Amino acid sequence: MTINHHPSDETLLGYAAGTLPAGTRLVISVHVQGCSRCARDVGRFEAIGGQVLTEAPGTELSQDLLGRTLASLDRDDRSSGARGKAVFEAVRRPDGIILPRALSAYETIPWRWISPGIHLSRVKVQEDPDANVILLRVGANRLLPEHGHTGTEFTQVLTGSLIDGSKRLMPGDIMEASADLEHQPVAGPEGECICLAVVEGKLRIGGLIGRTVLSLVGL
Ligand SMILES: [Zn+2]
Repeated sequence: MTINHHPSDETLLGYAAGTLPAGTRLVISVHVQGCSRCARDVGRFEAIGGQVLTEAPGTELSQDLLGRTLASLDRDDRSSGARGKAVFEAVRRPDGIILPRALSAYETIPWRWISPGIHLSRVKVQEDPDANVILLRVGANRLLPEHGHTGTEFTQVLTGSLIDGSKRLMPGDIMEASADLEHQPVAGPEGECICLAVVEGKLRIGGLIGRTVLSLVGL
């Protein structure tokens, strides 16, 4: 299985540098643990981090080192399809749901029904109780409520598929949606889709379903 949708370089750099908020860090860790390409890139970013620290920080040399490393990443297999190999390691929860191993230590609230075919669970992030990390279980062809957000939203597909505009996300793929995007993803036709998402900032979502979601996730 190959992975076609990855976090941005900025996000992977933040992950390697340890500067991402705890909720985002958790979702990105699930992606990185399941994606050979991003695991390799994070390893390189961590290596440059060490080099930049040993050189004088903020100097042209450091900037140049970062630029050269990003350029070398581009020269590699990224430009030829930008794929990663999926290395998904899963555990089965008591309720039968299969989750990546990175989530096994995290407490989750039981699935809550939010609308026909759509269930939501919240992942508790001890390091940051306000982090909005959720699991979504979406029936085949079910539309998620149309929404926007005040910050970046990351959605990692665990099982099934999710279609967002022209993008089709398969297991292992992640969607990084910037704050200005209003969108309404839909689960693929082949079966239930389970995904892990984090929203930085607030969700903007209308209607009864929206209010239910907001009250459940406390946004
Ligand atoms: Zn990746």
